[in-house]
Amino acid sequence: MEAGAPRRPRGGAAGAARRRGRRAAGGGGSAGAHHRRRHQQRGGRGVRAVRRRQRHPPDLLPNGRYRAWEQNAALLRPLVDSGQVALGNHTWSHPDLTTLGDAEVAEEIRRNRDFLRSTFGVQTPFFRPPFGARDERTDRIAADLGHPTIALWNGTFEDNRVLTGEELLAAARRWFSARTIVVGHANHPTVTAVYGQLLELIAERGLTTVTLADVWSTRR
Ligand SMILES: [Zn+2]
Repeated sequence: MEAGAPRRPRGGAAGAARRRGRRAAGGGGSAGAHHRRRHQQRGGRGVRAVRRRQRHPPDLLPNGRYRAWEQNAALLRPLVDSGQVALGNHTWSHPDLTTLGDAEVAEEIRRNRDFLRSTFGVQTPFFRPPFGARDERTDRIAADLGHPTIALWNGTFEDNRVLTGEELLAAARRWFSARTIVVGHANHPTVTAVYGQLLELIAERGLTTVTLADVWSTRR
């Protein structure tokens, strides 16, 4: 999920968005905590909470092998269609791509791309390599498969394990600031329990959420 981008008039800052995009895309090598835990098959409750409570929900990066994405597709699809949620490809099964050969990397990306197309009707330009593990080779394969924009992060809920609500809120207080892409796990229950408090924190700090598509000014 993404949160904490600066408040600015929509559409008036394409240059800034592009600059930010480059910085965000290029800075990922140092991008903090990686989420080592594999995404698990849950999240229906989280999807419903997001839909109910936020006008700009987080961006979502499905791994197609987890069937919850398909099971909740009918809930998600209106948010995708309206542009409230941007989707990104996060590979089919969440491997460290730098350990795989070219054909396996391509298959991980292609299979998930086709899943996103058939399930949500979108061709996303965004690709997030699992664990932020990437190099020129994996970036090129992603680009060849229709994902020229590598979307990394510079903040985190630190929820690669299941946190208490207070721990997650402490991470949010640490990371929610302007021009920050905060990554978190929709499949752990904690975030749904403190979602309202996260939104309050965003409002208190004068921040607003944007989608990846807003930031990169491209089709979703
Ligand atoms: Zn991940």
